[in-house]
Amino acid sequence: MPTDRADADHAEIRAAVRALCRDFPGEYWRRLDAAREYPTEFVRALTRAGWLAVLIPEEFGGSGLGVAAAAAVLEEIHAAGCNGAACHAQIYTMGTLLRHGSAEQKAKFLPQIARGALRLQAFGVTEPGSGSDTTALRTTARRDGDAWVIDGQKVWTSRAEHSDLMLLLARTAPRGELAKRTEGLSVFLVDMREAVGKGLTIRPIRTMMNHATTELFFDGLRIPAASLVGEEGRGFRYILDGMNAERILIAAECLGDLRWFVDKATAYAKERVVFGRPIGQNQGIQFPIARAWAQGQGAALMVGRAAQLFDAGEACGAEANMAKLLASEAAWQAAEACVQTHGGFGFAEEFDVERKFRETRLYQVAPVSTNLILAYLAEHVLGLPRSY
Ligand SMILES: Cc1cc2nc3c(=O)[nH]c(=O)nc-3n(C[C@H](O)[C@H](O)[C@H](O)COP(=O)(O)OP(=O)(O)OC[C@H]3O[C@@H](n4cnc5c(N)ncnc54)[C@H](O)[C@@H]3O)c2cc1C
Repeated sequence: MPTDRADADHAEIRAAVRALCRDFPGEYWRRLDAAREYPTEFVRALTRAGWLAVLIPEEFGGSGLGVAAAAAVLEEIHAAGCNGAACHAQIYTMGTLLRHGSAEQKAKFLPQIARGALRLQAFGVTEPGSGSDTTALRTTARRDGDAWVIDGQKVWTSRAEHSDLMLLLARTAPRGELAKRTEGLSVFLVDMREAVGKGLTIRPIRTMMNHATTELFFDGLRIPAASLVGEEGRGFRYILDGMNAERILIAAECLGDLRWFVDKATAYAKERVVFGRPIGQNQGIQFPIARAWAQGQGAALMVGRAAQLFDAGEACGAEANMAKLLASEAAWQAAEACVQTHGGFGFAEEFDVERKFRETRLYQVAPVSTNLILAYLAEHVLGLPRSY
């Protein structure tokens, strides 16, 4: 394989993840894609092997590794043609609990999350009226005796049907009464098993790819007072804290996608003969693939740099955002080149190209859109006036 990263960092992790992924070939993903079914066996295999607990400290039963190691796991999953979106949140969503949860919460939940007895796959931040503008969210949490009462609506809450717990961001103080718009939001750890049917309704959303995403309706849902994570009113900051890890890890998935597309395109370009010669002999076929590959190599350096800074506990907002921007765009260039190289067969389901093409497109929109990353860089790195 031209893009094998066997000699890259975390070579042993990469080899082990690749071996696991061999049990989940294209036919497996195609069957699920057609039925829009969740890859339960795949997620179970990753959980059993401990790959979803890489970031959980050893004292809580995880591997205690860093974001660089987690990035290697997700990159290899995607390079193998699998889809980590089914479970990537189990790796990083617990970071909010780890950094801001109480000692009791951590002792209660983290060991169970580490061994896969509890799934923390869902995070409810986005609402119909607030995606990029998180602080405009309107779902409320009101204190009532020993409970919080939740009312409102979330959208795009992925994996909610396949998770036991959900991290929820809700408003605990009206927006108009606060000095800063980032105040007045709080994070809750909601036990979905207790909540569904008792004030929480989950409705699946069918999307262009197989993503198990949903909308959530809260109607007087009562959750225990102890569900609050950290301090009331500081939730926006807690969620922001977790975003750098998320961006780096999604960028790693894009690098894996890029490798998959480049491998697939080069293999086909060598074997497909048109006008008596392999199409890969034409520069019109070679150049888009080579260009995407070069862009991906640049993106990989930025992913590595961002992960290194994150793991050293240093500020990495700019690097994490740039990693996500560069990797998602490189993956999309590779996807486009791969479809074009395959001609008509790029559209045939059995080649998997069209499925991966649909899957990788998401990452220019979620978890943060390209424009919002550019706005961040313009303001925080270049010192230009805030544009939103
Ligand atoms: C499949 C899928 C899964 C998701 N999973 C989750 C999840 O698990 N949990 C969760 O909370 N959310 C999730 N999301 C939501 C995702 O994070 C949002 O879709 C994303 O942040 C964009 O928000 P929006 O869709 O509301 O777009 P909007 O904020 O409405 O933006 C629409 C477009 O306008 C652009 N735009 C907006 N403002 C500006 C500006 N000032 N300058 C320039 N351009 C601007 C944006 O870049 C974007 O292209 C998911 C989304 C999808 C599609």
